[in-house]
Amino acid sequence: MKTKRAVIVQCRLSSSRLPGKALKMLGDKPVLAWVLASMKKVKADKYYVATDHQSYEILKPICKENGFDCFAGELDDVLKRFCDLIKTLKVETIIRATADNPFLFYEAAQASLEEFEARKKSRHPCDYLTYTGLPHGSGVEIFNAQSLLKAAEETDNPYDHEHVGPALYNHKDKFTCEFIKAPARFAHPQLRTTIDTFSDYMRAIAIVNYLKNCKKPYTTEEILSACNSDFVNNPLVFVPSVSKGQGTGHLHRCLTAALETKAFVYIPDDCSLAEVSGILDEYKEKGLASWQIINQLPDQSYKAVIVTDNFKLTKAQAQAFYNCKKLISLDEGSDYSEYCDYLLDIIPSYDIERLPNLFDTSYISKPVNVRQERTKNIEKVLICIGGEDPAGLTLPAAQALVKNLPGAQITAIVSDVEKYRNYLNINFIPPVENLREKIFEYDLVVSHYGLTAFEAAFAGCAVIMLATTKLHERLAQKYDFAYIPQGKIDSVKMQKALQSPFLHPEIKMSIKQKSLGSYIQKLALGKKLCCPVCGQKAESQEKSLRPDQIVSRNAGRTYRRCQTCGIVYMAFTAEEEMQYKKSYFFEDYKKQYGKTYEEDFNSIKTQCTRRLEIINSLQNRTGGKNYLDIGCAYGPSLAAAADLGLNPFGTDISEEAIHYVKSKLHFPSAFSAFPQIDCQKEFGISQFDCLSMWYVIEHFKDLDSVLKKVSEITRDGGIFAFATPSGQGISAKSNLDNFYNISPIDHFSIWEPSKAGKILKKYGFEVIKIVSTGHHPERFPIVQKENIQKGSAKWNMIDRYSRLMGLGDTVEIYCRKKADK
Ligand SMILES: [Zn+2]
Repeated sequence: MKTKRAVIVQCRLSSSRLPGKALKMLGDKPVLAWVLASMKKVKADKYYVATDHQSYEILKPICKENGFDCFAGELDDVLKRFCDLIKTLKVETIIRATADNPFLFYEAAQASLEEFEARKKSRHPCDYLTYTGLPHGSGVEIFNAQSLLKAAEETDNPYDHEHVGPALYNHKDKFTCEFIKAPARFAHPQLRTTIDTFSDYMRAIAIVNYLKNCKKPYTTEEILSACNSDFVNNPLVFVPSVSKGQGTGHLHRCLTAALETKAFVYIPDDCSLAEVSGILDEYKEKGLASWQIINQLPDQSYKAVIVTDNFKLTKAQAQAFYNCKKLISLDEGSDYSEYCDYLLDIIPSYDIERLPNLFDTSYISKPVNVRQERTKNIEKVLICIGGEDPAGLTLPAAQALVKNLPGAQITAIVSDVEKYRNYLNINFIPPVENLREKIFEYDLVVSHYGLTAFEAAFAGCAVIMLATTKLHERLAQKYDFAYIPQGKIDSVKMQKALQSPFLHPEIKMSIKQKSLGSYIQKLALGKKLCCPVCGQKAESQEKSLRPDQIVSRNAGRTYRRCQTCGIVYMAFTAEEEMQYKKSYFFEDYKKQYGKTYEEDFNSIKTQCTRRLEIINSLQNRTGGKNYLDIGCAYGPSLAAAADLGLNPFGTDISEEAIHYVKSKLHFPSAFSAFPQIDCQKEFGISQFDCLSMWYVIEHFKDLDSVLKKVSEITRDGGIFAFATPSGQGISAKSNLDNFYNISPIDHFSIWEPSKAGKILKKYGFEVIKIVSTGHHPERFPIVQKENIQKGSAKWNMIDRYSRLMGLGDTVEIYCRKKADK
């Protein structure tokens, strides 16, 4: 039988960017094995790996296992290596792949091979053919064996010799080379699946983890589903503190969460924490995979969700991480917390300056083993100052305890037992594996502030905290721990602490243990948003900038103020996106306002009439009557406009609402998103005399394109008016964090009347009237405090004050489009 086709996979181990990548493990096999398994699916007569002499012996077993022969040739003259191999094979067609690509589209390879051969039979054969538009790393090249031999002889260009394809396609005068747009099934040029860098390797690991089953090569659809999944696109990387002197608590916490989430954990090779390798082994026994531990962080080509448990971020770290996908920080104590998209405080923090998004001690891993009752006599004591004990507290504490508790067994955990060999009455031991579950064996635990103190309290032990700073003292007081104040530790101070009424901390074990891993996983899928007006700042600019100032943080969201335009916007949300379905106007509306939208129609219409009268009064006398309500819903404003003699037009993204407006109210209206709507096409009008958005503007994530469009479809001198919650009303002024906490999850911008002019000016609008609405005397703190009754003189005075000072919780902003921008 005459052989015709050969698959040749090009492989070498001496990659400069990622050495030995073909041998790196991906799931249960090396990268090369993945490549070979996929290429074996392509129908050919011979299957070869072409490598260099140095790599040959290492690669041969993998080749054999996967049904490939291995050929050794030139290291640098790849073209010669290929040609030398081809000369030994009696084949006509070569299918070439490289060993960097574990996720080859073998179906696309087969299809392009068939295309090549169909052309060969036709009147238009080609020398070279490849599909374009495949994910970077999913493609193969097909070429004529004889053409390549000829091309190699004719070129002495070094570049041609370092590669294979260019010898043909860089000489199109001599060879027919076809770059064919891939069929839609395979065309996803925005994706990247090749392995060229460490970041690529991390992505490949994530893909394999997502797809799990790795017995057969993945199909195109499987690879695409992985590439488009949240799991692959939000790689989670824990960055625990592994520095000497900061204890092992951070590392334990991150490894526990990584076990749950299959996340990566970044441990630099030069970390100074002595216990690291022992702890890693402990977690590997529990199921931590070796690929989860990484010694470098992914770069900008594979942006990660970084979770720092780092004690204090340095400025350089904060800046570097801010450019990542999202930055979530646990118990962050530095001055750079404004860089963090989300702050989760788990151990009660002594940093009282900033508020976290969430403070929740139920994420502390509580011990399973707990004491049933407190002991009266302290017989067993554990001193645990965490790792290296930089303040040197262990020995003085131990000696003070010996004096106060003669006969008690005193155990102290130290990293260097040898150093303490002369102190015979104290039992010095090295760090204990899984201390949390052994802590209950001790009657008393002495620790400086940290996880251990809380774990000991949860285990039901007596606890004495050793305060290292004034702040630690305040904290010990706040959480009712017995403690020794900062300064020298002596037996008198120890005696006092032992007699403290707080020796047995009353921390409730009833608090349910929550999984930190699953909460982080939810946060990782959250969305980081940019200023809706200014958009994404250019990356180079972003690096030199500080992040936008934090306005408020709450459990679901983070709000910032744009330093360029001044608007307050939702900068991070962990909440699910709102879908504007029928339920929005019915159930959801009712939930929020206590009545259905339809029930509310007439009272909304009355409000609209008032607003439209203002618009009419602001219109030039020559003003026309075409009025567009953007986000018209069921049309109350259109009905009001018609009563006032305007020509109303409406647009909304709710199909049901538009159906209602058309069939019941009979007004021209369009079921369309804004700003995508084509007004000329929908209504035959390119510019309106007045436009409105009643409680709509805050729903846009991309305000810039919205305001540009509004400006474009407003005639010169025309009026644009909108109503929106006010970021300067009494609710925001009296309790800012509560205001943002209850702000609906689909409000992406919060307008402050005093800042509106500057933003609108950018779009050619001049603010000509601001009406403060939504006055609620009952929301004034003084009314609550003094229980002022509705209708009383004081009440009325506060109501007048609210109107005078513009303290309503909603605001209407009316602006005119200037003749020249
Ligand atoms: Zn901005």
